[in-house]
Amino acid sequence: MNYVVDTRKIVKALLFKKQQGNCAECKRPLDVKYGLRYFTSLEYGGTETYDNVELIHVQCGNAGTKQKRTVKAWVLQKGGKKPQEIAQELGMSLSTVIRYLKTE
Ligand SMILES: [Zn+2]
Repeated sequence: MNYVVDTRKIVKALLFKKQQGNCAECKRPLDVKYGLRYFTSLEYGGTETYDNVELIHVQCGNAGTKQKRTVKAWVLQKGGKKPQEIAQELGMSLSTVIRYLKTE
């Protein structure tokens, strides 16, 4: 008999435990629709493995995508600024800006 191992399901379950059932972005309970966020995206060679993903609300993911676009647009427009300056001008946290700059 063949068994199909759903690794995605296992990874999700492990992450849920690791994150104590909370969203990696807003830290609130994962009680509404959530999904995976990749540290290194699949298009850049990232994998769907435990160390490359975290669980976040779908809503938080969408908000993140919007913020990421804002940061990218800002850099394109003004260029060569320090993350601290971007964070201050856009009213975002420094860690958020650094993450979006890295995933560019
Ligand atoms: Zn969230």
